[in-house]
Amino acid sequence: MKTKKTPLRMCLGCREMIPKRDLIRVVRAPEEQGGEISLDPTLRSPGRGAYLCSKPECFEKAKKINAFARAFACPVDPAVYDALAAMLGKDETAE
Ligand SMILES: [Zn+2]
Repeated sequence: MKTKKTPLRMCLGCREMIPKRDLIRVVRAPEEQGGEISLDPTLRSPGRGAYLCSKPECFEKAKKINAFARAFACPVDPAVYDALAAMLGKDETAE
């Protein structure tokens, strides 16, 4: 019998291991493709991935410490955080 393992990934906010499908993936494209950082709703874009769970505090923390820039060791466009906020259903103007 085949047992299907759910891949776990670490959330950059709470550092918990969470099933990949419950996380939001941000991907850094391979260098030869420009190395651009963007959201990856499909979870399968090539490149290095970093993950965030859907908890608001994790987003806040990741944004505050620029966790994705740390994870990718390169600058991250603020638009990536805006896109994340939109995906999480947060209203940035409410802040
Ligand atoms: Zn989290």
